[in-house]
Amino acid sequence: MNPKTKQKVLLYDTTLRDGMQGENIFFSPEDKVKIAKRLDDSGIHYIEGGWPGSNPKDMQFFELAKKAKFKNAKIVAFGSTKRAKFTVEKDPNICALLDAGTPAISIFGKTWLLHVEKALNITPEKNLELIRESVKYLKDNGKEVIYDAEHFFDGYKDNSEYALKTLLAAEKSGADVIALCDTNGGTLPSEVIDIIKVINDKISIPLGIHAHNDSGLAVANTIAAVQSGATQVQGTINGFGERCGNAILGEVIPNLQLKAGYFCIPEKNMKMVTTISRYVSEVANLAHPNNLPFTGKSAFAHKGGVHVSAVMKDSASYEHITPETVGNIRRVLVSDRSGQSNIK
Ligand SMILES: [Zn+2]
Repeated sequence: MNPKTKQKVLLYDTTLRDGMQGENIFFSPEDKVKIAKRLDDSGIHYIEGGWPGSNPKDMQFFELAKKAKFKNAKIVAFGSTKRAKFTVEKDPNICALLDAGTPAISIFGKTWLLHVEKALNITPEKNLELIRESVKYLKDNGKEVIYDAEHFFDGYKDNSEYALKTLLAAEKSGADVIALCDTNGGTLPSEVIDIIKVINDKISIPLGIHAHNDSGLAVANTIAAVQSGATQVQGTINGFGERCGNAILGEVIPNLQLKAGYFCIPEKNMKMVTTISRYVSEVANLAHPNNLPFTGKSAFAHKGGVHVSAVMKDSASYEHITPETVGNIRRVLVSDRSGQSNIK
């Protein structure tokens, strides 16, 4: 397929924000800048750097990021829609988002009435007003606005009419993108496909997908969302993130680009999929999981004699892609399972 005719998918990395909500994940503001530079080099389009309203360390990152140069990526600050008790100009979280000085801002709002009525304790109409005022104010301040529809799929299944109203509130107030979030990670790919197809007909701005991995389906749901019309993909390096983590970009990118016919990053950067994955584990002081698809040390390691014999004749016999494409290597293991080919 001619690369010029491939549909482009925008990659949105949230390792430095959602990733840090994972157990045992910690990066200093300086580490975050180093990781952001690597992500930028690879061609990632958006890098969510933190929640400036939530803690001083996240704000430190944005101060450092203002001085750093990024050649591809836009740095994004993350936060919530305004709270009911403040005016939008005085809302501390909204003020911190603007102080972060980023070209783009991602704000999350409530889709699910359960959260509106129980967690926020406000009326459904008031929630729509918080969304409208927050998006409009950030747009009036010249920001690109990504509206994160929190608990979108659960909210939609509970009350589709209200869930859609929240998206329309964001769209009409000027949001540039709406990211549909599977915050609890409980949605099936078939549901993602059905729901996004409906939403695509009602919303005219680009849609994104933000999938959590509680059912082991974050990558599958992300691919399904793109194939149903979403054009922005949110995920993290190695799936770092709250509970079971987020969609693993090191799996999403090669699946979309090498198999599904989409364009994510320049072909020459595909090898960075493995180097960045290992680099981020190293900075996090964590072992890189050997069995990570595409990037793990064992992803292309052959142990059984029959496999090795066949792979030496034609690598396609036991490998779904050539390991070098994503910067990994083939390994032949020698053990009591070996045949002559392993030794050779
Ligand atoms: Zn999340």
